Amino acid sequence: MTNGAPPQNPGMMQLVLELVQNGVVPEVVQVMEKIPRELFVPQPFQDRAFENAALPIGHHQTISQPLVVAQMTQALDLNDRCKVLEIGTGSGYQAAVLAPLCRRLYTIERHKPLSVRAEQRFQQLRIHNIVTRVGDGSKGWPEQAPFDRIIVTAAAIDIPPVLVDQLAVGGVMVVPIGDDQHDQRLVKLVKDEDGPHITDLGWVRFVPFVEGEAP
Ligand code: SAH
Repeated sequence: MTNGAPPQNPGMMQLVLELVQNGVVPEVVQVMEKIPRELFVPQPFQDRAFENAALPIGHHQTISQPLVVAQMTQALDLNDRCKVLEIGTGSGYQAAVLAPLCRRLYTIERHKPLSVRAEQRFQQLRIHNIVTRVGDGSKGWPEQAPFDRIIVTAAAIDIPPVLVDQLAVGGVMVVPIGDDQHDQRLVKLVKDEDGPHITDLGWVRFVPFVEGEAP
C-alpha cells in the first residue's frame, strides 16, 4: 500500500464526496482516498486526475471513471481471501484499488507498454499482491484458475464463456457488455452450483474488449 496517507487535496475531497453521494460504501471510499490517481494519468491530464471522468492513457485506451471503478469494486463483494482476475490492466488504477481488498490479483493487458508502466506504478506504491501478464485476456489465466472474482474492464459483445469456466463456484464476475460504446450495460454474474445468475447494474461506457494480442 501507499507509504502513509498522502496529503489531502481539494480535488480528492470533491471526488470522495461524489463517491459517497452515489452510494459507494466506506470500505471502498477509504481505499480510493489513499490511491494517488494522478500517478496513473499521463502528464497532460494531471490537473484532471481527480475529475470523475475517464481519461486517455495512450494506445487508444482510457483509465476508467472513478465512480465506475468504485461501483465495479463494490459489486465484486471482495474479502481478503479472494483470488481475483482482472482483464484489461490499462493504467493499473482499478487493480491498485482492488489489491488492498483481496488476497491476490492477477491482471492481463494486451498492450505491453501499458502493462510495463502499470507494474512500475505498483512497485512505486509498494503494492505486492498483483501479478501482471501481457496477453489476450479472452483466454483467461488457465494456470491460476479457478478465480473467486473476475473483473473485465473492457466491453465484450457477450460474456466470455472461457472466463465463466475459470470462475469458481460461488464466484462473482463483473463485466461490461455491448458492442456499441453508447449502448453498454454493466453485468454482474454470480456462479452457483445450478449455473450463472445475471444481474444488470446499469449503463456504462468502456473501450472495446479486443481478442488477440496487440501487434
Ligand atoms: N482497468 C483499467 C482500464 C483500462 S481500459 C484502468 O483502471 O486503467 C481497458 C483495457 O483493456 C485497455 O488497456 C485494453 O488494451 C485492454 N484490453 C482490451 N481487450 C483485451 C484483451 N482481450 N485482453 C487483455 N486486455 C484487453
